[in-house]
Amino acid sequence: MTTLYYSDAIFLQHDTGFGHPETAARLTAITKALEDESFNPLQRLNAPEREDTETNIELIHDKSLLQTLKETLPKDDFAVLDAGDTILSPHSLEAAFKAVNVVCDAVDKVFQKKANNAFCAIRPPGHHATPVQSMGFCLFNNIAIAAEYARKYHLIKKVAIVDFDVHHGNGSQAAFDTNPDVFYASSHEMPNFPGTGRPQDTGVGNIVNVPLHSSETGESVRKKYRDIIFPALRAFEPELLLISAGFDAHKDDPLASIMLVEEDYAWLTDELLKIAKQCCEGRVISALEGGYDLEALGNSVAAHVQSLMNG
Ligand SMILES: [Zn+2]
Repeated sequence: MTTLYYSDAIFLQHDTGFGHPETAARLTAITKALEDESFNPLQRLNAPEREDTETNIELIHDKSLLQTLKETLPKDDFAVLDAGDTILSPHSLEAAFKAVNVVCDAVDKVFQKKANNAFCAIRPPGHHATPVQSMGFCLFNNIAIAAEYARKYHLIKKVAIVDFDVHHGNGSQAAFDTNPDVFYASSHEMPNFPGTGRPQDTGVGNIVNVPLHSSETGESVRKKYRDIIFPALRAFEPELLLISAGFDAHKDDPLASIMLVEEDYAWLTDELLKIAKQCCEGRVISALEGGYDLEALGNSVAAHVQSLMNG
């Protein structure tokens, strides 16, 4: 049983400027947390070169978005896309392209049965990027692109995305809320950025939004997964399970106030793997989204990846 682990030095070169929470130090913290010898069985890969990156981006995004980013990319210093949140620096597009390459490569390898599952330690993150707009630290919606790529090139119909980042994946919802063949479930603090994700927003019956309230505990969050998200996911019977893996619902995270700890991420991962084994031969691809306390992020990713390896 193999777990792939993708990381690459290019992801450190997406510079968001001093004081920005979505920083390269996040990946350094993850790398350090995965140095322990218990992670030796991971199959570690760098981001591949691919010819089809722009085609794959256009599975989700308008051509105009890509054009805007190319025109805005600064030769030096920074360009700001939205209210100071989403920053472009000279290597940002290269990093964002490689992040897309990583998730597509992970889909290929999992369907070629070279691995059971994969964790993609990529940045910039993706789930706030809508088909027409980069926002909320996100340039391209990596996980949404992975879903459409799998459906197009691996001859499957139904893909599920579970998003446990503390923020609602408005971009993922916008990409799929009229598509009954892609399931999207999110737990997220409300009120918090970006303000979307009301439970009554159900798409065409394929969207499950589970708001969390300030200070909600792991016990309470687990109950909501057991009672709402897991039954809906099982009923959908996906052929591939994708995870928008943000770790900012951790109790130490500075951008939110949910009280999860490392064990909660291990539990969530274990339960998702059990469902994936029942419906899609354990095919799971997890991609990093948020998580802004460096120590909590490193330890939470370690717990998540350990569960993927045990699955
Ligand atoms: Zn987040």
